[in-house]
Amino acid sequence: MQQVTVIGAGTMGNGIAHVFAMNDFKVNLVDISQPALDKALATIEKNLGRMVAKEKITQEKQDATLANLTTHTELAKGVEGSFLVVEAATENIDLKLKIFQDLEELCADDVILATNTSSISITKIAAVTNRADKVIGMHFMNPVPVMKLVEIIRGYATSDAVTQQIMDLSRKLGKVPVEVNDYPGFVANRILMPMINEAIYSLYEGVAGVEEIDTVMKLGMAHPMGPLQLADFIGLDVCLSILHVLHDGFGDPKYRPCPLLVNMVTAGYKGVKSGEGFYTYGHGTKDLVVADRFKK
Ligand code: NAD
Repeated sequence: MQQVTVIGAGTMGNGIAHVFAMNDFKVNLVDISQPALDKALATIEKNLGRMVAKEKITQEKQDATLANLTTHTELAKGVEGSFLVVEAATENIDLKLKIFQDLEELCADDVILATNTSSISITKIAAVTNRADKVIGMHFMNPVPVMKLVEIIRGYATSDAVTQQIMDLSRKLGKVPVEVNDYPGFVANRILMPMINEAIYSLYEGVAGVEEIDTVMKLGMAHPMGPLQLADFIGLDVCLSILHVLHDGFGDPKYRPCPLLVNMVTAGYKGVKSGEGFYTYGHGTKDLVVADRFKK
């Protein structure tokens, strides 16, 4: 059985590990935090249990999937024997560059190094290794076990052969890979974030209220979720940092983050994760309640 290493056991890492393990790969899940690893295993078990209850998979499949997972807090041990490493650690450029420098030293020359970064340049990450042809973006969507798309991002030096191999591998995981080139925001966030930013500008300029903006996009454009609710889900801090990447990367004022978004993030209103963004989440995420400050 082939073995992969997933670095980072947070929201994305546990989902990526889940999908590989369910598709008959041995998975070494690595995190610096033991509690994060414990939580990831508990989450994967809970999500698999839900699939068993809905009769989407059998109990045997759940057991086999869990048996494919091993956790590590030490990177050197965690990468031993893997042909592919998928990095899904915290979105921080210095952290990722350090991880890739370490991977360059720890992994055999033919190991492919992938990153799930939402916004950092693949070319920049590849440049700290001696194998830029084998560094590639594998941008899974959240929640990973549910979402079909994987944006496959070719760095400036990524080879055709490695791109093809990762496209094929993504299909084996039951995903639909889409190949894109490495420019700020890739495709998903280059299109999504300006839309979210424009929705926030519409609120900031008083064009309409929170519910009105989201309703226009849900019912008018058949989006499953309005842009302000989606921003709360993604995390307003994450949206702001991706807008900074677009703004800095293109130097074009059309990407300037709305001052309302900047204020909300500075004040700690980050959406679902902090309990309040455009909506409040003290009661969970099922019923949408507009935050008091945006009530009319
Ligand atoms: P998260 O904060 O939920 O998890 C990050 C994990 O990385 C934490 O458990 C942390 O302990 C671990 N970590 C930090 N430093 C580490 C190190 N040196 N070695 C090993 N583990 C380390 O973050 P997330 O939302 O899962 O995001 C992970 C990556 O996926 C980021 O690059 C992000 O941009 C990308 N991404 C996120 C989403 C999303 O919706 N959350 C979607 C697509 C891509």
